[in-house]
Amino acid sequence: MKVIISSISGFCGGVKHAIRLAHNACKRCVGRVYVAGELVHNKEVMENIEAAGIKLFRDDDWGKITARDSLLIRAHGCPRDKCAKLRKIFDMIIDGTCPHVVSVSKMIERRAGEGKHIIIIGSASHPEVQTLASFAKNGKTHIISSEEELDHLKGSMDQALVVAQSTIDESFFLNLASKISKTYPHAEVKNTICGSSRRRQQAILDLKKEGAQAIVIVGGRHSNNTCVLAQITQRVGLPAFHVETVTDVPIEKLKVFQIIGIASGASTDEKTTKQVVAAVMALENQKEKFPH
Ligand code: SF4
Repeated sequence: MKVIISSISGFCGGVKHAIRLAHNACKRCVGRVYVAGELVHNKEVMENIEAAGIKLFRDDDWGKITARDSLLIRAHGCPRDKCAKLRKIFDMIIDGTCPHVVSVSKMIERRAGEGKHIIIIGSASHPEVQTLASFAKNGKTHIISSEEELDHLKGSMDQALVVAQSTIDESFFLNLASKISKTYPHAEVKNTICGSSRRRQQAILDLKKEGAQAIVIVGGRHSNNTCVLAQITQRVGLPAFHVETVTDVPIEKLKVFQIIGIASGASTDEKTTKQVVAAVMALENQKEKFPH
């Protein structure tokens, strides 16, 4: 039995940046440090951050804020109207928005200013998409999460910008974008899937090429980029085992495979991935000791 590990693991640049800001804020700020929504979609990482002193900002916290408290904006960013409200109650705001999300937001703002429609391919309930949509204009923003929803696009979309949520499946984006381009040939299509997500998605295809018969995906259950890795694994015909921590590794189910791939999401701590790798490799040693 052989274990092959994805060429990319550990936090992406945006998550590293937000976590660094969180720890610095805990050391320097005098009052409480809040974060507007989960800093990253990973339970273990959130537990560590909360243990360091960061508090998740909840609806019932609005009336409790003092001049000493500060607020950290997470890697996904914060919708403009919500951010404006938060600025009224927090004197100190630390912006942990991923630079990639900032740059796509600015592109949307520019094109919306030129009167263009903005088509975002992604999930309307995802905080990053909500941030991006807040930089577009009401009535000219369209969030599309499936091929069927393309029928919702009505009117002249020739003056449109098409972008992607940074973590969606690239092949899904390219398919929908090409359909939009056929109907609206002058629409401007920008593939805004971030470099980290692209490389992680490519790594799944590489693991398949290297002979993996199943892939263990390490990361938060609510992490979009991690779930996409599991979906791509299944799309290419391999069983995907999505685990959050080493305790989830389905040892018995993995025993039937000769070559197992391991990959991880952008908000997964390298330490967790290493623990999972060690657990799967222990299985490799067991098989060598007791060959069938
Ligand atoms: S997954 Fe991409 S967009 Fe999201 S925080 Fe990481 S680098 Fe930024």
